[in-house]
Amino acid sequence: MTNEFTFLGGATEVGSTGFLLRSDNFSCIFDYGLTPTSPPKYPLQAPSVDYVFLTHAHIDHSGMMPWLTSKYDTKLYTTPLTLALANILHRDNLKISELEGFPPMYSKTDIREMGEKLYEIDVNLKYYLDDFQLEVHSAGHIPGSVMFKLTPTDNEASILFTGDINTIDTRLVSGTRPVKCDILVMESTYSGRDHELRAKIEYNFLEKVKEIIEGGGKVIVPVFAVGRTQEMLLILADLDMEIWLDGLGGEVTRLFLQYPSYLRNAKKLRKIFEQVHRVRTRGQRRKALEGGLIVTTSGLLDGGPVLSYIRELKNNPKNGLLLTGYQVKGSNGRSLLEKGVINMDGSMEKINMDVNFYDFSAHAGHKELLDFVTKCDPEHVVLYHGDNRDILKQELESDYVVHIPVEGKAFKM
Ligand SMILES: [Zn+2]
Repeated sequence: MTNEFTFLGGATEVGSTGFLLRSDNFSCIFDYGLTPTSPPKYPLQAPSVDYVFLTHAHIDHSGMMPWLTSKYDTKLYTTPLTLALANILHRDNLKISELEGFPPMYSKTDIREMGEKLYEIDVNLKYYLDDFQLEVHSAGHIPGSVMFKLTPTDNEASILFTGDINTIDTRLVSGTRPVKCDILVMESTYSGRDHELRAKIEYNFLEKVKEIIEGGGKVIVPVFAVGRTQEMLLILADLDMEIWLDGLGGEVTRLFLQYPSYLRNAKKLRKIFEQVHRVRTRGQRRKALEGGLIVTTSGLLDGGPVLSYIRELKNNPKNGLLLTGYQVKGSNGRSLLEKGVINMDGSMEKINMDVNFYDFSAHAGHKELLDFVTKCDPEHVVLYHGDNRDILKQELESDYVVHIPVEGKAFKM
């Protein structure tokens, strides 16, 4: 049997992931997302396939799913939590498209009807489909995130598609475990880069928060709604300070708490979520500014309530802006780190605040990726979702056949 693989997006970069697999007997797509820059970036147009698999809800993996499921009548294999999370992000994405004047790729109805295509799966289970056996493993990235292993019924090579993975335990989720396979299709966001020890990052972050507050400043913690908001709440809980939570992360946290089995410590998250001050109105936003410790979307500073807080606090170097995640190319956060300015309503504004970056990544670092490959023990390794894959490739190619595909170009094995 020959397999033909094509990345529709997200091979050479972190964003708009889409992976097409065509074998002699069946075809499928893993993830179909968009990059939420302005204007948004989309993957190549997907063809009709037999199966659609979604690893997790993040918009760069799920963002174009309503388009896909409304255009073709295909079942969508994912966890119910991922579907519910993705729907929140899709509705938000639609709103942003309208606000920013970009043509929407799908309608509210398409988002709603996506649920009708769901084929519910869960971690640590096996499913026997017509052409292959499907194994679902936790990816350790965010709650509900999974890896898919396909083993064709004719005993041909098994394929593991990782989506985004993390191998270490974070406050929110437990790390993933390697899975034996023949062809490993693995994300490589952190190829060539290692993370500092998590405990050290947490310590430095909490010390900075204390230092700013004690110095009379206010702290903005920009976060992604899904995963990072909750991780930061769990970490900030150590400080025993009043926290103000604004943006989409609140709704997402409530949803997480309905699926406690995907969380490492649901009880602790519930407790801290009951204690935070939720911000929903303008008056509450003023109170949050007085309060001084604000956790809010968006994590890349590309829209969301975070910009209104920055506008109020940007001219006082006593105030802190503590970035908590990877800032993708083209984002406001990246521009802040590289040039000290961000785009606010079309004009570039200088940010005179105590700006710091903390690597609270939900992705495995370079060393962990190498270790993961060794333990999965594949013959072929396909690296995607990385703009610096050569370093990982060089280290792996003495032991494995390593592929670093580009978008739109099919390759066979
Ligand atoms: Zn992700």
